[in-house]
Amino acid sequence: MDRKIETKCLHLEEDEDCIKHYGAISYPIYQTATYAHSGVGKSTGYDYSRLQNPTKEHLEKVIASLENGISAFAFASGMSAISLLMEIFKPDDHIITDSDLYGGSIRLFRNVSAKNGIKISSIDCYKENIEDFITSDTKAIYIETPTNPMMNVTDIAVVSEIAKKYNLLLVVDNTFMSPYFQNPLDLGADIVVHSGTKYLGGHNDTLAGFLVTNRTDIAEKFAFLIKTTGAGLSPFDSWLILRGIKTLGIRMEKSQENAFKIAYWLKEQKAVTEVIYTGLPEHTGHEIMKKQARGFGAMITFKLESKAFALSILEKVRMIKFAESLGGVETLITYPTTQTHADIPPEIREKNGITESTLRLSVGIENAEDLIYELDKVFRETECELNV
Ligand SMILES: *Cc1c(COP(=O)(O)O)cnc(C)c1O
Repeated sequence: MDRKIETKCLHLEEDEDCIKHYGAISYPIYQTATYAHSGVGKSTGYDYSRLQNPTKEHLEKVIASLENGISAFAFASGMSAISLLMEIFKPDDHIITDSDLYGGSIRLFRNVSAKNGIKISSIDCYKENIEDFITSDTKAIYIETPTNPMMNVTDIAVVSEIAKKYNLLLVVDNTFMSPYFQNPLDLGADIVVHSGTKYLGGHNDTLAGFLVTNRTDIAEKFAFLIKTTGAGLSPFDSWLILRGIKTLGIRMEKSQENAFKIAYWLKEQKAVTEVIYTGLPEHTGHEIMKKQARGFGAMITFKLESKAFALSILEKVRMIKFAESLGGVETLITYPTTQTHADIPPEIREKNGITESTLRLSVGIENAEDLIYELDKVFRETECELNV
């Protein structure tokens, strides 16, 4: 019987028949830079930690197992993973990307990849005809689904058909869903990207990033590039992410349960003009989510009647933290305009629908009543102050 994902978060099937590391239940942290050899031409399998380290390797096997890939690679952050991914392309290669993406990815593509001669077309992959943008130089399609922060949902299987027809790589940033709710490789993607800083780590305490693939040729390219450029995750941070993953299942379930309650509460607020949560039946991507994912996650974007109202919420929250990032146990509220998407030119931000009254909530695992109590207090105080 195939193991379910909650179990895979705790047990690596290939390790189960043998007791290693004195039986330690928690995988040891191999805090070493280099490895001794017992003779010329002999090796323990490890030579130097830039190439590989047992703790990092164990984490990579766990991630590959969760995403049903053949290989996973752990990086010092999500952005270092995406930067390394871009090294497989060469000048004049053309990539089609979603126009609404994590701000750091847009900044990388527009400033660094462009400088290296890589041509980028940013389109709304969830609604535009991707085939219209494919040229003889096109090498890849890069999407997020749901996107950050507008929660646009793209049908991964449909895009994967297009990618296969034109021999393009399909890359999916799966950070928002985590492997617990969505597995893009199973739907035809070639490469999955994760910011491990978010749900995988889950505790707002460690940066990490991952690339996962089910193609040996791509895995070989990544292994060579990591050895050469050296952006691998440290042994201790690998251990922290391993520890986080153990509770991925219960964290995802609890945050999603809270997100539903908050989404419905937000919908009832006079000052809220729009609630964008893929779990709501009226969300345009809701049916696709039901088809390609096992849940809806815990990210909610919502718009207020005015910028003043949005700013007041950010000023007044106390238990809910006004902070960048997402996917941790603590609920965070973010202002995309000046935080995650500050470096995006205003005209692109506006085209994507990010207004100055747009806020993003990453719902954590607190008691939902406590979260709603705080939101209610903040909303009522703001109404009084602004006289609305
Ligand atoms: C945070 C994030 C990244 C970047 O990851 P870091 O770990 O912050 O470098 C990439 N993609 C998405 C969707 C993210 O939310």
